[in-house]
Order: sequence, then C-alpha cells, then structure tokens
Amino acid sequence: MPLASYCTLGVGGPARFFLEARDEATVRDALDWARRRGLAFRVLGGGSNLVVADEGVDALVVKLALRGIAEREVEGGVELTVAAGEPWDDLVRHAVERGWQGLECLSGIPGLVGATPIQNVGAYGQDVSQTIVAVRVLDTRDGAGLTLGNAECRFGYRDSRFRGEEPGRFVVLAVTYRLHPGGAPTVRYADVEKHLAARALTAPSLADVREAVLAIRRSKSMVIDPDDENRRSCGSFFMNPIVPPAVAARLGALAGDSAMPRWSERDGRIKLSAAWLIERAGFRRGQREGPVGISTRHALAIVAHDGARARDVVAFARLVQDAVAERFGIRLTPEPVFWGVTHARAS
Ligand SMILES: Cc1cc2nc3c(=O)[nH]c(=O)nc-3n(C[C@H](O)[C@H](O)[C@H](O)COP(=O)(O)OP(=O)(O)OC[C@H]3O[C@@H](n4cnc5c(N)ncnc54)[C@H](O)[C@@H]3O)c2cc1C
Repeated sequence: MPLASYCTLGVGGPARFFLEARDEATVRDALDWARRRGLAFRVLGGGSNLVVADEGVDALVVKLALRGIAEREVEGGVELTVAAGEPWDDLVRHAVERGWQGLECLSGIPGLVGATPIQNVGAYGQDVSQTIVAVRVLDTRDGAGLTLGNAECRFGYRDSRFRGEEPGRFVVLAVTYRLHPGGAPTVRYADVEKHLAARALTAPSLADVREAVLAIRRSKSMVIDPDDENRRSCGSFFMNPIVPPAVAARLGALAGDSAMPRWSERDGRIKLSAAWLIERAGFRRGQREGPVGISTRHALAIVAHDGARARDVVAFARLVQDAVAERFGIRLTPEPVFWGVTHARAS
C-alpha cells in the first residue's frame, strides 16, 4: 500500500515493511525485529508533515496508534500524559473544554501527539515547548526506554533534538504537558486580536480563542477539510527565516517596502515572513505548475492536485526556493520531513 494514503499531501510510494502498533510492546518488538535485520526503522504519525518519495522507503515503517490520556493534579497545574497516537486537536479540545490553559492557540493543527515535540509544533504565539515537561521515548540505538525532561529536548523554532540533532533516533511513546486550570488564554497575534475585537470579546475565554484560531486557520486552508481544494498539503512548506537585523534591513530596502513583515526574536534576530518573500519573488496564490501549486489561500502552502507525484512537489519547492534566493539572497528551509527524497532537509 503506498504511503500516499497515510499522508495529507497524498504522494509517496510504499514502505518495504509496514505495521500499525496499538501498544508499546508491539513498537518494541518491531524495533527489535528491524534491528536484527539491519533495517531502517521509521515512525509515522498522521502524515501531515511528510513528503515520501515516489519510490517509497526501504524501511520498516510503524504507524503509531497508541492511545490513552492520564491526568494528575500538581502544584499550580494539571499534568496530562498522553500516548503518542492520540489525535492532537482532540487533546486541545479536551483541555479547552476543561478550562486548562496552555494549548488553545494550537487548535486545528493536524497530526498526532507524538509528533508535537519533533518540530516543537507552534502557532499563534504558543508552541509545545512552553507546556511539555517530559517526553517518554524509545532509543532506536539500543532499544532502551527513557524519559527526557524539557531541557533535554533542546527545543528551538520548529526544531528540537529529535529533528535537527538526532533525527530518527528516538520514538516518542508519550508526552507530558503541564497546563494551567483557570489560566487566561494567550492572545499574542494581531490576527487573533482582530478576530476577537470584531466580536467585542474583551475578556475572551479559552473557547473563544480556540474558535478564533480555528476560524482564522479555516480562512487560510490551514485545517484539513475534505471539501477544500487546498486540502492536500503539509501546511506551511517553508519555515520563516530568522536573520540578523542588518540582513532584515537590507531585504526591506531591496524590496522597497518599509512595511515588510518582521518580528523581533528574544535573541535580537529578526523573523521574516516566508510567505511574503515568496509572493515578492513573483509567485501568487493559486499559481500552478502542472499538478502542483501554491494554495489559493496561503502563499506558504504547496498543494498537490490530481496526478501529482512527490517529484513534482519537490521540483516546485525548488523553483520557489531558487526564485526567493535569486531575489533576496536567502534560501528557504523546508518545514516537512522528507523520506527517501534527496532534498535540503531529509531524515
Ligand atoms: C493543514 C496543515 C496545517 C499545519 N499547521 C501547522 C502549524 O500551525 N504548526 C505546526 O507546527 N505544524 C503545522 N502543520 C504540520 C504538522 O501538522 C505538524 O508538524 C504535526 O505535528 C505533524 O504530526 P504528524 O503526526 O502528522 O507527523 P508525521 O507527518 O506523521 O511525521 C512527521 C515527522 O515526525 C516523526 N514522528 C511522528 N510521530 C513520531 C513519534 N511518535 N516518535 C518519533 N518521531 C515521530 C516522523 O517520523 C516524521 O519525521 C500543519 C500541517 C497541515 C497539513
């Protein structure tokens, strides 16, 4: 069975071996089996951040379907230990319904809980590094189980030890998040502020913020909707570049636009909008090259249409990268993980 059917982008060939694991013992046995045969071992979640090569992957691919949520009260909060196979947005809804602050801005992101530490999933002013206290993993090097604290995960912007430093080494089995009962929602993004202000919500609840985030995401095709022409994507295909202030100033001057979007990072660097750079490099929403193109609602999403293959997606992504590099001297870094694809960032 092609992995395309397990990925939101809907491209990609088969795995040499494939297994769905509903309990941890099955994951351990599968890892042992692969290790004994010297086979690569890969973990699949919801397939929403993945580009799989048309040729498929020479590996044992294990789809994680571990379920379960354990809750415990701790001083000043509640800790939820959540199995890797729980759908992420169900967890966010669960937390919001109970009045637990910490995940509300992360509403509507596809995929499973186990993937959230991998790229430190984030949106609208929150990321999971702000709430994760521990990640329970299996080390594929020796099969040992261990629990890593927040600092040991070495989270960064769309990055962590699991992704940048040691890709593929750890299988995430469960994640523990600390949330804040009765806490006020995070409202940090202009889009969210505007949406709430338009509804005269001056003291928004967690549910109001969740609704606002879902509405904004829907307007950008950033939730999965089977009836949406932009549904086959990985969300944002490129990360927002973070550059020294002098580079940001140079690019602003180059674009001749003092209103170039930019956000100051804590370390003094400046985060730029990859979507803005893409549009200024000459691409427009809805533009297509054969079966692949840019979302009609968001310049940062590459969308696969009928007949698209992984190689079409990769070729189109390169076209975008080359155009932005030529115009602004910055090479955009892809956000999805590539399996079996020769590309800038593979795992
Ligand atoms: C419409 C849309 C909107 C999106 N919006 C956002 C957004 O706002 N913010 C954001 O950060 N991301 C966003 N994404 C990207 C994606 O949803 C997230 O990165 C999500 O966490 C991926 O989860 P998944 O279960 O689908 O992972 P997969 O795509 O299955 O896997 C991604 C990577 O993580 C690894 N992995 C998955 N599970 C585990 C595990 N248990 N242990 C070890 N490794 C694992 C895989 O091996 C692979 O390398 C969006 C995607 C789409 C399609």
